Amino acid sequence: MKRRRQEEWERVGVEVDSIANISVVGDGGWGKRSLGHSYDANTGCSVVIGTETQKVLDLDARTKTCSMCSRKLEHTVCYRNHTGSSGSMEAAGLVNIFNRSIEDNLRYTTFVGDGDSSVETALKTEVIYGADIEKVDCINHKIKAALTSYWNGDSSETTRTT
Ligand SMILES: [Zn+2]
Repeated sequence: MKRRRQEEWERVGVEVDSIANISVVGDGGWGKRSLGHSYDANTGCSVVIGTETQKVLDLDARTKTCSMCSRKLEHTVCYRNHTGSSGSMEAAGLVNIFNRSIEDNLRYTTFVGDGDSSVETALKTEVIYGADIEKVDCINHKIKAALTSYWNGDSSETTRTT
């Protein structure tokens, strides 16, 4: 994936060794279907896609469990890397992805994502260059939220006309 980030950096056309500010689309998902039902998955994954190349630039996998730990077996590599709630996995993963973008002279300063305000807050407060990140709402998520509200009779998201 480092090569993909390099390709994204080249497309922006900045000077050699300088940092490029780019736009990415990002989202997270859990190891089991949960939207609107339960939020107790033990694993989750966050991904960002570059808008220039439309390729996956980075991903971060979170897991709350480790089979070796749960069996109290000795092990040198523990894959358990998340202690918060399942719902906080997306934000934690995206913060990691954004912070390490600097290693490849990239800053993900425009973030296209869903309406999850906890992700936006985490990016703005926990990413090294968080103050420079602009959040743009994903139109697909906005339409989905509006339609869901419409069908559920919730007038706070949209106005019913029938
Ligand atoms: Zn372990």
